[in-house]
Amino acid sequence: MTQTRNLIDEKGIRTDGRTGDELRKIKIEVGVVKNADGSAYIEFGNNKIIVAVYGPREVHPKHMALPDRCVLRCRYHMSPFSTDTRKNPAPSRREVEISKVIREALEPALMLEDYPRAAIDVFVEVLQADGGSRCAGITAASVALADAGINMRDIVTACAAGKVDERIVLDINDTEDKEGGADMPVAYLPHLNQITLLQLDGSLSSEQFNECLDKALNGCKSIYEIQRLALMKKYFGSESEEIREEQ
Ligand code: ADP
Repeated sequence: MTQTRNLIDEKGIRTDGRTGDELRKIKIEVGVVKNADGSAYIEFGNNKIIVAVYGPREVHPKHMALPDRCVLRCRYHMSPFSTDTRKNPAPSRREVEISKVIREALEPALMLEDYPRAAIDVFVEVLQADGGSRCAGITAASVALADAGINMRDIVTACAAGKVDERIVLDINDTEDKEGGADMPVAYLPHLNQITLLQLDGSLSSEQFNECLDKALNGCKSIYEIQRLALMKKYFGSESEEIREEQ
């Protein structure tokens, strides 16, 4: 990543009008896919992603089944119309890698030992991509898993922070991802205080790394509230607003 132009103005405002500590607008809707066991739709800035969860169900092919726990399978896929230039619908190396990191980010939150010889399938379909789609996908996937009634130790919440104009900022957008100095996606279990994904594209000093991680974790904590309210809204209707006011 080599930065060629200023992405933060003299007032500290970024290309999309945010300050350094601001998240993009996030909207989560639970239970949007009729035929899935659990599902969620997320808008994270201009990212638009649907996640559908199936299972626990029988494993096919059968030899993939594990005697002591459930197999978690994840597929991250970008639709051909999700990017500015048509994306080839065949799975790319990037999508195979992101599918793997999403699975690894979700696995520690799930009580897979409760469903031996079964499989859970998580489909992350990116309709519109805007930088940070893996974090938005993980955030929606954990809500969809909760919606499917899968036993969970915690919810998984994810957010990136990074370096732009030598400053550490929260929630990198597409332009900052492509033109900025560093992008660090993080997935976090807020109750277990456990990090389940940490990647870094770019370079940071050790002070910058610590600042970046702190910022990403703070972002994750705010996103957790949005996930919680989205689940409350589906399962308790308008009560969720009253519960929010009580706190
Ligand atoms: P993330 O979306 O998790 O930040 P990357 O850093 O790999 O993942 O990608 C950043 C952004 O680059 C994506 O959100 C998307 O907007 C864009 N992008 C990724 N792959 C393609 C592609 N094949 N064609 C066009 N744009 C792409």
